[in-house]
Amino acid sequence: MLAYSEVEGLSRKSGGFTLKVRRKARYVDEEICNACGDCLEKCPGRAKDTFDMGLRQRKAIYLYFSQGIPAVMTIDPEACIYLKKGKCGVCKKRCDKGAIDFEMKDEILSLDVGSVIIATGLDIFEPGDLTYYGYGKIKNVITGLQYERLINATGPTGGHLYRPSDQKLAKTVAYVQCVGSRDLNYCSYCSSVCCMCSIKDAMLAREHDPESVSYIFHTDLRNVGKGFQKYEKRAAEEYGVQYVRGRVAEIGEDDEGNPIVLYEDTRQRKVESLKVEMVVLATAATASRGSRELAKMLRVKADKYGFITTRNDQPADTNVKGIFACGFCKGPCDIPEAVSQSSAAAQRAASHVLRSVGAGASKA
Ligand code: SF4
Ligand code: SF4
Repeated sequence: MLAYSEVEGLSRKSGGFTLKVRRKARYVDEEICNACGDCLEKCPGRAKDTFDMGLRQRKAIYLYFSQGIPAVMTIDPEACIYLKKGKCGVCKKRCDKGAIDFEMKDEILSLDVGSVIIATGLDIFEPGDLTYYGYGKIKNVITGLQYERLINATGPTGGHLYRPSDQKLAKTVAYVQCVGSRDLNYCSYCSSVCCMCSIKDAMLAREHDPESVSYIFHTDLRNVGKGFQKYEKRAAEEYGVQYVRGRVAEIGEDDEGNPIVLYEDTRQRKVESLKVEMVVLATAATASRGSRELAKMLRVKADKYGFITTRNDQPADTNVKGIFACGFCKGPCDIPEAVSQSSAAAQRAASHVLRSVGAGASKA
């Protein structure tokens, strides 16, 4: 397994491909590091914690997240004082196993493979351009992924829904659906997972705090899947989740940092406003950054959003024989769907390799 690595090129060779892979320097020896964390304690370098969606800072030497594989530290060259200025080196002194290696360089590997499966996943739409939602300006307007980190026990608040402006517990939360999704100016498609995600998040808020009240502002709820409708109903009946049909027009803020949601309730046919303590934007999910470049490099087709195009009759197969795709890199899907797609892609890739081996043997 090559983590912290990037594919930089692909060429065809008889019966398969040769991949050029850049294995980036971690400055920590994967074979030696046991993630004990001794090196972290006194590290003075700081950077935005990207896994925690920028809600806190991390050290220059860091474990990306606790369940990550391999469980080893990485030094961020942009934040490390030694790698930038030649001073510090505290982590090297603290690591008695000798895992720190400032001389480490990127390695270029050449791998001969029988087939390739693209499974590059997704990224999240940046809602800053939608200025009417106030993201980036109103502190208590956050994205769904930031919320996921707040409510997570390993997150920056230890699982408490403390809002960013004053660290007060947020008791009324508005979830705004389709932020960037189903919007002709940005992503015209439905991101497919956000309705269920917001419902789950609203239920979690009530589980953490019995006084919590959640409002879900939606165009329509697209909960397509076994048991999903039941789940939606259960959220309303057992967790008091309130569904409001209407797209939010604007979000303002009062003097105490409470977001004010301006919306049209299309059931009541009324323009209304609602003061809440925090807003969660259910942002669109997009093909991961760099997917267009990857598609170009592998010569596979991608649509205008960067999603890899696959065959209708063989949904794991791309236009290039021997290259397959699964999961969100093909288009919006949830986890169970991604899992079944990956099984299909693995099976197609294995058949391709076996056929190639068989063809090679009969030629010989
Ligand atoms: Fe422990 Fe050394 Fe790894 Fe840091 S680099 S976690 S001190 S083994
Ligand atoms: Fe942190 Fe870099 Fe100093 Fe190590 S050398 S302690 S990573 S700033």
